[in-house]
Amino acid sequence: MEKHTITATWDEIPEDADDLALVRGGYRTYLCFCGKRLPDRASAELHALETQQCTACLGSTTEDVVPGYSQTCTACAGTGRRKVQVTWNLAYAEAERMITPDVVRTIIAPMREPFRLSQVADAVRDALGLPVGRLPVGPRVREILRRLEAAGELILVSAPDEMLRGPSVVLYRDPYWQHASD
Ligand SMILES: [Zn+2]
Ligand SMILES: [Zn+2]
Repeated sequence: MEKHTITATWDEIPEDADDLALVRGGYRTYLCFCGKRLPDRASAELHALETQQCTACLGSTTEDVVPGYSQTCTACAGTGRRKVQVTWNLAYAEAERMITPDVVRTIIAPMREPFRLSQVADAVRDALGLPVGRLPVGPRVREILRRLEAAGELILVSAPDEMLRGPSVVLYRDPYWQHASD
């Protein structure tokens, strides 16, 4: 069997690099062990797909977010496998269906002190009777809280855990919010 380990190496990053393009796979050179030409991110993802590898980490099991910072790939639970990524996508779709913004609104309504992401996720799991690890509850709850924040219902009160690239690419591990009306 031919090996299709795809590696991405960082190019030199200009001072005025586009941060969004950077975190989405730009400014890198992609190479596959088999020698196939992979001129850009799209062709690397396509080749990962053809070879049954995760299209987010390209089979490497880690996501390189910015130079010097990588994390275990969340799309495939760190397996690098396309099959796991697909299963995880389906589980996310199910979480989206079960955990609506209104479910989250109801749970956070009585919380007067600033509340943490993990605390809301636990409350949602309890309310819906979901065992830990069955569905990606945390990522879905995070998405909804960020959306309520963007809509002005909530205010993010914690500072980023890490500034990965100045103030524009930051990392929040377990942020907390409060109601805008408090
Ligand atoms: Zn290959
Ligand atoms: Zn992956």
